[in-house]
Amino acid sequence: MQKIIVELGSRSYPIFIGEGLIDKPEIYTTLLKTKQVMIVTDAVVEKLYLSRVIEALNGVDVYKHVIPAGEIQKNLESMNEIITLLLKNRFGRTSCLIALGGGVIGDLTGFTAACYQRGINFLQIPTTLLAQVDSSIGGKTAVNHKMGKNMIGAFHQPHGVIADVSILRSLPDREYTSGLAEVIKYGLIRDHKLFMWLEEHIEELTDRESDSLSYVVEQSCRNKAEVVAIDETEKGLRATLNFGHTFGHAIETGLGYKYWLHGEAVAMGMIMASHMSVLQGWLSDNDMERIHSLISKVGLPNQLPQLLHSKDIRDLMSIDKKISHGRQKLVLLKAIGEAIVTENFQESFLQETIDFFHSKIR
Ligand code: NAD
Ligand code: MG
Repeated sequence: MQKIIVELGSRSYPIFIGEGLIDKPEIYTTLLKTKQVMIVTDAVVEKLYLSRVIEALNGVDVYKHVIPAGEIQKNLESMNEIITLLLKNRFGRTSCLIALGGGVIGDLTGFTAACYQRGINFLQIPTTLLAQVDSSIGGKTAVNHKMGKNMIGAFHQPHGVIADVSILRSLPDREYTSGLAEVIKYGLIRDHKLFMWLEEHIEELTDRESDSLSYVVEQSCRNKAEVVAIDETEKGLRATLNFGHTFGHAIETGLGYKYWLHGEAVAMGMIMASHMSVLQGWLSDNDMERIHSLISKVGLPNQLPQLLHSKDIRDLMSIDKKISHGRQKLVLLKAIGEAIVTENFQESFLQETIDFFHSKIR
């Protein structure tokens, strides 16, 4: 088992990574300071893993709340249901929530924990690759509003993260591959060694072989933990984690959040941001080729979806929330493993990039 600490002073917490961790009572004993917990999960994860977690929580007073699976559940109504249940069962300020699921469950449970009685503890047991390498770490919690995704939220760090990599084997292929986009992202923005490892171990990775799962989750968590420790509330460095996301969000929004998964849109976004970095004269053609090749080999998109017009992409990008004071900020690459957040890019290269990929749609 690996342990990584997210260093945030008195709010520091461990991430445990390994095989079969959800069955180990000692993990929970280490992390829990209370005898009363409520597990929030979705109907898919409930069937697969809930009973195992409850069994390992032997001796603890466990309540559960199961919601249907899906992004649409990440809203204030779901949150209110959890709060009602907590109140009915007299959960006090020292009680604890456990998020057992993907990013939807993690964000919803985390935000509920942030608000309930002005903030109670919560644990993350992430069950998707995206949640294990990204959303369960760093304390961003939120629910959606009809007018925008993640528009109601708070920074609230969990008390611990239990990343059991064996759980990832039950993920549908597309969900798993989509999570790999965020792993590749860490390689691109700050970890050339991880990127090279990914290039060399594509097969083990797509086979979800034990050692490779542990390795990518561990390295990704380490990268995210380091970034969060330096810049918890995204004043600077943390924004590099948005690499590929400005292009990606435009694709997701343009498709009405249908057809493509987040990681798929981010993968395409990373290809576009890399292309633009080449136009800027920062990234070499060779690095661009390696990025394109890795993303394609793991099975992520390297072409824009049909249905999208280049003007739409440009318009959608300019309403992305990363715009500050009217000038768009982009995360671009100087090299593989080195990202910068900048507003000093040549405007025409942005349109050129969109047009280039648009012309390749078949
Ligand atoms: P998700 O939570 O919807 O899970 C995807 C699907 O996989 C669901 O149907 C779920 O039931 C199923 N599933 C989960 N674990 C499984 C398993 N082990 N085996 C089989 N099926 C399983 O989606 P996600 O991709 O994990 O998370 C997306 C959400 O995360 C979005 O709402 C996004 O906004 C959020 N997010 C948050 C942060 C953050 O920093 N807080 C970062 C990135 C994304
Ligand atoms: Mg993302």
